Amino acid sequence: MTIPSGIGRWLTGLTMAVLVSCTPTNQDSRTAENCINADSLERHVLALASDAFEGRKPFTRGEQKTVAYLATQFETMGFEGANNGSFFQDVPLVEISGTPSSVMMVAAPRETVELGYLDEFIASTSRITGQIDIDGSELVFAGYGIVAPEFGWNDYDGLNVKGKTVMVLVNDPGFATQNPQLFKGNAMTYYGRWTYKYEEAARQGAEGVIVIHETKAAGYPWTVLQNGASGADLLLQADDGHMSRCALEGWLTTDAAAKILAACGLDSERLFESAAAPGFEPVITGARVTVSITNELRFDTSKNVVAMLRGAGRADECVVFTAHWDHLGIGPVADGDSIYNGAADNALPLACMLETARAFSGLDRRPSRTVLFIAVTAEETGLLGSAYYAANPIFPLEKTVANLNYELFLPIGRMADVTVFGWGQSELDSYVVEAAKAQSRYVTPEPFPENGMYFRSDHFSFAKAGVPALFVKGWSEDRERGSQWTSGKIAEFWSKHYHRPSDEYDPHTSDLGGIVEDAKLFFKIGYALSTESTFPRWNANSEFKAVRDSMMAEHAPVAPAKD
Ligand SMILES: [Zn+2]
Repeated sequence: MTIPSGIGRWLTGLTMAVLVSCTPTNQDSRTAENCINADSLERHVLALASDAFEGRKPFTRGEQKTVAYLATQFETMGFEGANNGSFFQDVPLVEISGTPSSVMMVAAPRETVELGYLDEFIASTSRITGQIDIDGSELVFAGYGIVAPEFGWNDYDGLNVKGKTVMVLVNDPGFATQNPQLFKGNAMTYYGRWTYKYEEAARQGAEGVIVIHETKAAGYPWTVLQNGASGADLLLQADDGHMSRCALEGWLTTDAAAKILAACGLDSERLFESAAAPGFEPVITGARVTVSITNELRFDTSKNVVAMLRGAGRADECVVFTAHWDHLGIGPVADGDSIYNGAADNALPLACMLETARAFSGLDRRPSRTVLFIAVTAEETGLLGSAYYAANPIFPLEKTVANLNYELFLPIGRMADVTVFGWGQSELDSYVVEAAKAQSRYVTPEPFPENGMYFRSDHFSFAKAGVPALFVKGWSEDRERGSQWTSGKIAEFWSKHYHRPSDEYDPHTSDLGGIVEDAKLFFKIGYALSTESTFPRWNANSEFKAVRDSMMAEHAPVAPAKD
């Protein structure tokens, strides 16, 4: 059989086109990537981190300026507003200022214990209501408060906590025992985070949840909780007023917890130790908790900025880039300055994201999949903008291939490494390895996995909702000055500038070389993902795999019936 020569030529042309579009580094993408540069990046930082933007706090003039700036940049680059043509997605928020009763009363079998607010307990509520009264709620010690099928662990097995208050330990049994066979050993899993403890207790129907604080296991001292309790909490508005959450969410010091357990005739040390051993069984303490909270509520709306470049083929599938635009605004004076400019957190990463976006806009041939850029609001107050997007996505999550998040970049020069937070979570790791190799960089896991950084920025909102998510940056070894110099610089940032007015941008002392390289790295990874047709998966031991698997199974195309 012969093929007419015309069709033969056409087939060869088609094969060539397929090959070109599947190769991650074709000439088109290289040219586009090379337009990323330090001057352009710096213009964005100078604007976003300037005093004129007033620290970019939600609901302020700083928000208006910031979101307008970002939308204009995307529009100028030729991006489309992703929300039915609009560059904005409204994020309805509520501010809750709670005042707990000064004493938490715990009536135990042996005696009644009275605990002092702030010194011994912290209490708040996510329920959007004026008043919470916990009146004699039965107290149960539920170990670590974890249900983790992939680790064969269930602290709530056979336990009914409806209407009761659970008391649980922070972190997870792997950290407590440092046993690498338990959970992920020293590295924190999401089950170790206090946010998870609150969520699981609510799923179990508990009325209250109290986490027992311990400095090493929490990663921060009790004073951090005390300081956090003084301000108002910002939350997403919810149709159910967050009535599905526990009425009471709070913390106890280790001493306060021991006091309660002693009044129940229980040895806290022995109990806490047994909670980290497989087969632990929860303990009905016989104590009853009484506490109340009075709330003041204020409703307001902030904005996510959403911009997209529609895909040329699989346009209904998308790769999402995120960077939070918000910071702390104008606050308490430190060293004569009250504007919290947030240059490293998060103006530089935002500028970096804009440069990645510009590279995409410079492609002659659009990638097959849509690329979506979101500058999210209210990260600093609990990843709220990204959580809102994940709950109200523009592209269905089962069509969302991956999330790449830009968070906290330092302008200290080119790095020899790419540090991966949450290393081992998903198949996205191999994309990082590929892209890093092309830049002659090596890939390394985060240095302190016990701090749970993977759960602390916006990519986590995607991970939790099942979408494989990456949090990476050059963070370990300066190409010229080495790793010790670099960790010194990072330590200096945490201790002197993090969340302070001095997190500013100084063009004279900054070197944007590393951030330019990271913008290119994100472009390489995003470009590869946007030209493929496959969906990278979570790895087997990931706590986010089950959500993704059931989502993908539910939306899997139905196989045609055989005849
Ligand atoms: Zn940040």
